[in-house]
Amino acid sequence: MSTTKLPRYLCAAAITTFAVAISAAAQTPVNADATIGLKRDPTIVAALRDISADSIRVTDTFLAGLGSRHTLGDTLSSTRGPGAARRYLFAKLNKYSQACGGCLRVAYQAELVKIREHPDTPTVNMVNVVAWLPGRDTGRVIVMGGHYDTCACNRTDANGKPIPFSRYDTATNSPGADDDGSGTSAVVELARVFSKHFPKGLDATVIFALYSGEEENLYGSRQFAKWLHDRQYRVAAAFTDDMVGNVQSGNGTIDSTTVRVYGADPENGQSRDLARYAWAMGKLYTPRFTVLPVFRLDRVSRGGDHSPFVALGDPGLRFSEKLENYTRQHLPADVLQWVNFGYVANVARLNAAVVASIAAAPPPPQNFFGRRQSATGGNDWELTWTAAPGAVGYEVLYKSTFAPTWEKVIPAGNVRKFTLPFQLDDGMAGLRSIGANGSRSIAVAVPPVCPPNLPLSATTPVRTDSASPGATAAIDVLAPSTLRTACVRAPGQ
Ligand SMILES: [Zn+2]
Repeated sequence: MSTTKLPRYLCAAAITTFAVAISAAAQTPVNADATIGLKRDPTIVAALRDISADSIRVTDTFLAGLGSRHTLGDTLSSTRGPGAARRYLFAKLNKYSQACGGCLRVAYQAELVKIREHPDTPTVNMVNVVAWLPGRDTGRVIVMGGHYDTCACNRTDANGKPIPFSRYDTATNSPGADDDGSGTSAVVELARVFSKHFPKGLDATVIFALYSGEEENLYGSRQFAKWLHDRQYRVAAAFTDDMVGNVQSGNGTIDSTTVRVYGADPENGQSRDLARYAWAMGKLYTPRFTVLPVFRLDRVSRGGDHSPFVALGDPGLRFSEKLENYTRQHLPADVLQWVNFGYVANVARLNAAVVASIAAAPPPPQNFFGRRQSATGGNDWELTWTAAPGAVGYEVLYKSTFAPTWEKVIPAGNVRKFTLPFQLDDGMAGLRSIGANGSRSIAVAVPPVCPPNLPLSATTPVRTDSASPGATAAIDVLAPSTLRTACVRAPGQ
């Protein structure tokens, strides 16, 4: 054996030992730390301290006092209906903008739409109120929303049978103090606090959006999501606060310390990682307020204003109270006295932590692919990606398929390629960007989840567009479009 061969042999042995050690650790489930390597930012901590339950209460008191904010209601009255509600919201947001030297761009986003589900299919001026806080990147937007419209659509007759078309009843009171006066008021408070603490904006642009038409089938949010996509905005995340103030269920159970955060399938998709990110932010910024991550788009057979964004391929989440009360929801009984404003403020603090953290961070890397490395017999996986603007480095994440969140964080440096010394057949790898300020993006993930009967032929890397970066891998496919539908977006999502 020559002296030149000895070090090579030792080197190979060392690599093998290292790989086995990492492999064993990677395949052993651990009690994951839900903060997944994220850290608190003092500027965000300061903003959270400024969120006021009293300020939220003032907004909701006005909204609930209108009696009804039904989308089909009177728009001219100053004391009842959706017109009075949106003029109040617009004026309030405008006032915040004046206080920060015009940092918010407040606008109505309106379109004439037909209510298709209504027996008369009336045409309605669907008016959202939006306040933009422009960031360094005006094309990358984070939408924080709630809906200001209400309905009395759960009404029943004397026999307990649903009253037909009560969804379109504008005469009956529907104060909507919780649904969704609570979420709307939280979003208004977020606009106040962000305009005060971040008047020059963050890296991404933040849009505070107050939707109409939610109760008729998400008309306002569908309209705004499409409006953004039609204009080539890249939606980094879309959130809705919908019913974030009730703490007592119909059977008297109370929970005022937990909020549900809904993040849709698939497991390797961006909404799911956003849910993990929100979970981590809760641990970091609101440790006495528990985030319950729910790995679903929404509650069973229910919908919300994050859904239209998710349907267009954007990451989206719904924040909702832990306990709903169906004896008051969508009824005249949804009044102010049942809204716990301390609880709403805690939800708003969590919202602020999530929105500001993502807005302060660079976008996730794009074109993230994972390939088996044939030189190692397919054991190692080679990860490649393209740079994210503003990123100074990257972290590779790993979790087993059944772990709820990332179990390992591996610094990768400022590179475009990383070799995992173990395979991904029983795990998932993620990749996130690190900003100069220490912020972290949400992660993109490989490999994609594909149905086993997908037809296989040519080896074609599947690409994503710039609006929804990331989560694909180079594998054998017949038609990239089929793979994309099957693997990147969950069926029925
Ligand atoms: Zn609602």
